[in-house]
Amino acid sequence: MVEGIIIKGIGGFYYVKTEDGLIESRARGVFREENLKPLVGDRVKIKLSPEDNSGYIIDIMPRQRELLRPAVANITQAVIVMSVRNPNINTWLLDKFLLMSDFHGLNILICLNKFDLDENKTKEISKTYKNAGYDVIMTSIEANLGIEDLESRLKDNISVFAGPSGAGKSTLLNLINPNFKLETGKVSSKTKRGRHTTRHVELLELGDNSYVLDSPGFSSLNLDFLEDEIQVRDYFREIKKYGDRCNFLSCLHDQEPSCAIKEYVKEGIINKDRYKNYLKLLEEVRNIKRY
Ligand code: ZN
Repeated sequence: MVEGIIIKGIGGFYYVKTEDGLIESRARGVFREENLKPLVGDRVKIKLSPEDNSGYIIDIMPRQRELLRPAVANITQAVIVMSVRNPNINTWLLDKFLLMSDFHGLNILICLNKFDLDENKTKEISKTYKNAGYDVIMTSIEANLGIEDLESRLKDNISVFAGPSGAGKSTLLNLINPNFKLETGKVSSKTKRGRHTTRHVELLELGDNSYVLDSPGFSSLNLDFLEDEIQVRDYFREIKKYGDRCNFLSCLHDQEPSCAIKEYVKEGIINKDRYKNYLKLLEEVRNIKRY
C-alpha cells in the first residue's frame, strides 16, 4: 500500500503522485455508495496491482478544506495576481477575491505584478493592503524583481492563482517552472478557445509538497456563498479589526450613528476605496436572489 496525492482525474481514472511516481488509479466502488468522490488534492492510500502497477484507491484522508468551483480538496493558499497598470488595477475585483479567499480559510498572498510600469502606484496599493492586514509582494517579470520571493511563498503549499487575464499569472508560473508551459495571454484567441473547452483541474508540481492548481474556475466570482451582510463585515479584515469599537455590536458600518469605522475612514486609517467597496458588497449581498 502506498500513499499519495491525486493530481488529476480524467474519465474515472485518478492520477496519484506517490514516492514511486505517478500511478493511474481507480477508486473503490464503495465510495460512490458513501457519496464520496475522490477529488484532485485528496491525499489517498492506494493498493498496487502486481500485474500492471495500476492503483486502486482504498482510502481518502480527511480533507482540510474543500472548494466547490473548482471541485478540489486541500488547497492551502490563494495567490491573487493583479497588475497596477496594463491592465489597470481593479480593486473591486481584488476585494472580492480577498473576501472569497478568506471565506474559504485560505492563506492569502496578494501579488502586485508589473511593478516596473508604475512603481509609485504599486507601492501605494501595497501599503493600503498591508495596512488592511494582507500579505503583499511586488513582482516584475521585465525587471526580474520579486520572482524568488513569490517562489519561496509557494513552498509547502497547494496554491490557487486568481486574477484578471493579462495580469501575468501564467507568465509568472512559467518563469518559476518552465516545464509548466502554461498558456499565456499572448497566444491567438483560436487556440485559447479550443483549450478552454477541454481543460480539467490539475495540480502542477513545483517541488516536494508544493503544488499549483491549474484551473480557470477560481477566477469566476460568484458571491452566492455569502449568507448575509455579517459575513461581508467579518471578512473585510480591517473592518473586522476595528468594528468592535462601534457603539453597537450589530453595527454594519453603513447608516448607523456613532460608527467608529466611518471615523477611521475619515481619518484615513481605513482606506476610503476599500470602504466604498465594502458598502458596495453589502448592497450586492442584500440583492442576491435566494431560492
Ligand atoms: Zn460601525
